[in-house]
Amino acid sequence: MPAQQRVLLVEDSPTDALIVKHALRQHYQVHHTCSPEDAKELLRHHTYAAVITDYYLPGMTGVEFLRWILAQGTSVPVVLMSGRGDERVAAEALKLGAFDYIVKTEENLAGLGVVLQQVLRRHELEERALLLQQIVENASDAIITLRDDGAILTANQALEPMFGYTPEQVIGQPVTLLFPGAAKEFDPSAMLKSKALTPHWQGELDGRRRDGASFPVHMSVSVLKEKAGFRHCLIGIARDVTERRELLDRLQRLSVTDNLTGLYNHRFFHDRLQYEFARARRYGFLLGCIMIDVDFFKSVNDTYGHLTGDEVLKSLAEIITNATRAVDILARYGGEEFAVLLPNTDLAGTLHCAEHIWESTGSTDILTRHGPLRLTISAGVAALTPDMKDEADLCRRADEALLQAKRRGRNMVCTWEGAAPAEAAAPKLEIGSSMEEIFDSARRIIAPAKTQYMESLRSLVEGLSAHVPDLKRHCEQVLVYSTAIARAAGLRPEEIEAVRNAAALHDVCKAVMPNPNADAEALPHRHALDASDLLREMRLLGLEEIYVRHHHEHFDGSGGPDALKGKEIPIGARILAVANAYDALTTQEPALNDGVAAERLRAMAGARLDPEIVELFLQIRESSSATAAPWTP
Ligand code: GH3
Ligand code: MG
Ligand code: MG
Repeated sequence: MPAQQRVLLVEDSPTDALIVKHALRQHYQVHHTCSPEDAKELLRHHTYAAVITDYYLPGMTGVEFLRWILAQGTSVPVVLMSGRGDERVAAEALKLGAFDYIVKTEENLAGLGVVLQQVLRRHELEERALLLQQIVENASDAIITLRDDGAILTANQALEPMFGYTPEQVIGQPVTLLFPGAAKEFDPSAMLKSKALTPHWQGELDGRRRDGASFPVHMSVSVLKEKAGFRHCLIGIARDVTERRELLDRLQRLSVTDNLTGLYNHRFFHDRLQYEFARARRYGFLLGCIMIDVDFFKSVNDTYGHLTGDEVLKSLAEIITNATRAVDILARYGGEEFAVLLPNTDLAGTLHCAEHIWESTGSTDILTRHGPLRLTISAGVAALTPDMKDEADLCRRADEALLQAKRRGRNMVCTWEGAAPAEAAAPKLEIGSSMEEIFDSARRIIAPAKTQYMESLRSLVEGLSAHVPDLKRHCEQVLVYSTAIARAAGLRPEEIEAVRNAAALHDVCKAVMPNPNADAEALPHRHALDASDLLREMRLLGLEEIYVRHHHEHFDGSGGPDALKGKEIPIGARILAVANAYDALTTQEPALNDGVAAERLRAMAGARLDPEIVELFLQIRESSSATAAPWTP
């Protein structure tokens, strides 16, 4: 059972008070007092659902008491009672803010319960309406009501900051003043006539400010019904969604761009590729594609750290952006890979652009916290041809061309050349190939390894040159000058590369203290000799070259190509000579059996062959008859 509501009764007539208390006893808890002063005290300490007061009170009138209550700022409803013939009092009280008035007849007093019930109900509704009004007034959304002809009936205060009009300025004006496109979106008259249960429209509209500026608004329009169901007007709630629109735009941008470089991302590149490809196909336009991969980027990370690597990637994106046209679509395709799509560009134009990117990258100092850095790129170029099935073909060809650029030694641009598969990592040498062709193939195999090798040496060289002031700068400068001279002198690419490598390394041994026992005369050239010793040490196939060169020398000095004699002949070459001779004896017609071959070998010892090596070989051969182990490669 709900708690009884508390009612304050201020009545100095004991009989009347008794009747009232009796009339209310069932549903209310009545606090009764004769004095208005006591009543004030009670009101200060308790909350009442209503106050019922006699007009004639000791020391003050009911109207004065009512004034006091209202002055307290409470919203408690007050019912005033007075004798018959006091209608003037009633009018004054109601005007002041009394909730109701009754004439004190026995009958009226006995029916006070019903009156009070109505008073409380009405009070509650008024409070609720007041609350709703406050909600509307304080809402941050603009709330307007509309007539069936679209004229504005009311508007709340939020209208002003949003549209720059006060509510008064828009009342009676057409809704299109605020929303020029509203008429196309919803029809107030049709909505009001609609048989639908809850006619409703919502969507985005352009709002128009008083100063003419427009902004995005989310609008929700529904029909306001009266209790009987009579459709009265429309209510529109408008929210400024500028920030939301901006956020959506930003999210949209983020979803297509790469965080680090601000270029388009891989996904967007493919979307655009598909679109541009279809367009080019349909209208017969040209389309070019470039795939770019930075050379030896891993070593940037390894030497300077990932953060510097990221910085460098950003700078590379800038360099590439500056080397392309605004219409070209530039994307970060992968880690340190970039892709460019060139609308309306043929193969020659695409190649030209790729070379420009390659040239700019190779000639730009990338500033990092560790000083300036130079990097090179490899690029693959392809352009739309009629035989392409779809956009993937274009992309794949540019990729294959890039692979080719990498395989040919990096730091270059390659164009996709026909359907031939990209060279295998180890090209097959045709029997009967010319020496020049064999050299070519060998260079192609060596080039990437050599570049990689130089790259691996870089940290050693940099570590060494860090000890000597100005050494690093000097080496870099010598590299620049000598590269220019080598190019101008028309050297072959591998010769240019060797000049560059030599320039980078030529002074590294200046960083090392000279050996105190070294020959004093050689001292001025000491670092050159040291450096060349170091390089000899680092030669990959240096000894092999020597052994191969001398494997036709004869122990007695009668062979070639340098007529070396005895122990002058490098040991490896003497070993090759014995092995070579034995195999020839046992396999070439007439093939000799093992025993005879051994005798012939012994006969050659001291003349063509080194006798010690021959003896060693024959001993091994002896033991090999027991086990096959010595011949295991
Ligand atoms: P290659 O000349 O063969 O291309 O040599 P590479 O060292 O560039 O080798 P590869 O292209 O295979 O390796 C790419 C390296 O780029 C691997 C990774 O260390 C680095 N990398 C990839 N993405 C990022 C990135 O977002 N930031 C940084 N700092 N490094 C990256
Ligand atoms: Mg890569
Ligand atoms: Mg790379």
